[in-house]
Amino acid sequence: MRWSQYFIPTLKESPADAEILSHKLLLRAGLVRKLTGGLYTFLPLGLRVLRKIENLIREEMNRAGAIEVLMPALQPTDIWRQSGRYETASDVLYKAKDRSNKEWILSPTAEEVITTLAAGELNSYRQMPVNFYQVSVKFRDEIRPRFGLMRAKEFIMKDAYSFDSSDEGAMASYQRMYDAYTRIFNRCGLRNFPVEADTGVIGGNYSHEFMVPAVTGENEVVYCEACGYAANIEKATSGIPKTAAREIGGSGEKFATPGVVTIEALSKAPYSVPANRQIKTLVYVADSQPVLILIRGDDQLNETKFLARTGALAARPATPEECAATLGAKPGSLGAVLNVPATVKILADERLRGANDMTTGANEDGFHLRSVSIDRDIKVTEWFDLRTVTAGEPCAKCAKPLKMQRAIEVGHVFKLGTKYSEKLHAYFLDADGKSKPCVMGCYGIGVTRTMQAVIEQCNDKDGIVWPLAVAPYAVCVTPLAVAKDSAVMQLAEKIYAELTAAGVEVILDDRDDRPGVKFKDADLVGFPLRVSIGEKSLANGEVELKPRGGAVQLVKAEEALAQIHAFLAAKS
Ligand code: ATP
Ligand code: MG
Repeated sequence: MRWSQYFIPTLKESPADAEILSHKLLLRAGLVRKLTGGLYTFLPLGLRVLRKIENLIREEMNRAGAIEVLMPALQPTDIWRQSGRYETASDVLYKAKDRSNKEWILSPTAEEVITTLAAGELNSYRQMPVNFYQVSVKFRDEIRPRFGLMRAKEFIMKDAYSFDSSDEGAMASYQRMYDAYTRIFNRCGLRNFPVEADTGVIGGNYSHEFMVPAVTGENEVVYCEACGYAANIEKATSGIPKTAAREIGGSGEKFATPGVVTIEALSKAPYSVPANRQIKTLVYVADSQPVLILIRGDDQLNETKFLARTGALAARPATPEECAATLGAKPGSLGAVLNVPATVKILADERLRGANDMTTGANEDGFHLRSVSIDRDIKVTEWFDLRTVTAGEPCAKCAKPLKMQRAIEVGHVFKLGTKYSEKLHAYFLDADGKSKPCVMGCYGIGVTRTMQAVIEQCNDKDGIVWPLAVAPYAVCVTPLAVAKDSAVMQLAEKIYAELTAAGVEVILDDRDDRPGVKFKDADLVGFPLRVSIGEKSLANGEVELKPRGGAVQLVKAEEALAQIHAFLAAKS
């Protein structure tokens, strides 16, 4: 490709609304342009990178035995109602109406469609295991589309769905995808690691996310260097000790705490109740019902765990008015000992199990209760792990201190079980002659997000540093004089032609621009190797090879081609 005849609109400055480095570089390197928030046009170079990542994914999916298909992005609502996700996923669904006012869904994933296909096509255990995948556009009505391609309204996803006749088979299918994902992200040049994950509205009971460490990542990951435990904070647990039981002097005496409405205020004189001897009572509205959540005063509620454990579709903190209507007091004086209506569930965090000599709100503004024993004084409906793990807590597996890191989720694998096959009637006849639901797994990779994650991880002060496997072009040939008859341009054309003939992806920067401009652009776009040809060095029979992010190397003009091939071979 000749640069002058291509379309690479690089920018000197970052557009003001680009928040994170990779977003800025996407725009500055001329890879994409924003249409409006969460919607981007892929420009030629960006599209090349996207296609490379897609094809690399295809290679690994095919290698793992998955079979490519393509499903409609426009989907009928009835299958979404059948799976239950018309309601449970409604907040992310884009819905469209047709001329007869019939409603359709723009696919955010395709469990419903693939299970419908399986229902019609998979009749016998002999047809399994089978794994179908597609690479296609997905739509999600995100609350906060941001960071460019990271969280978009429309994006490219590779989604795969495995069907097995048994649980063991499904586990093996899951493991094949897990291994394929590791290969895919490694081949993309990404430092990545799998973590245990929450399953969210997709459902199922076993799941891993593939994370790319990055300070701008939207996920927090808890991990143990000693034993390798790693989990999304939404799922992570630790071996932190339960609240120590101790001698208890009284039985829930009420005492006045005028104006005290925080854990911290109660921990100070004259009350001096340490946060770890306080019970924090939170009122949530879960699927329209008020629920009390009890957490130790020095712990934080993890809302994802709360949703996962209770199966609630939606939950939010109650307003002060709703708190007062439920418990007769405002936040700051709430508790679960006195005046809790029998219909209101009390969910308590495991760390409080057996705790006594605790202090909590009296459900009367300006009053608390001391010497509270959970077992004696509170009717806990259910115990769950609801707290958020913090750095330094002992690992549940090996007791070494846990660490935390921010990361970008690029892929997610789920063991679905039979949730979708039962609801959408994907049954098969097993070897024993019985009809059984297919055991499913689903596996997603955010292709466009992966592309940006590579940029987020692979860059320096001058721009992107593409790993060879996903670079838009491997080599940029940069003649410093572009007059047709110049020796410089003639050599540049020769190298360009020879590389092209050898199947190397090469771009010739034939623009009549200052060397500084060309070098800056090549660095910004991030081609793995730049081959510069200038009059001075050519007078000595030499050309410059500069690996992106590496040092300039002068090589004999006649050896240039061999050196370029050697460089590419070493990188691939
Ligand atoms: P997130 O937690 O980031 O919202 P998710 O868990 O809802 O993502 P999945 O349903 O697991 O996403 O989708 C599979 C993959 O699709 C994700 O791992 C991610 O890489 C990508 N993805 C999801 N939502 C978006 C989005 N709005 N924009 C770009 N990529 C996305
Ligand atoms: Mg996910």
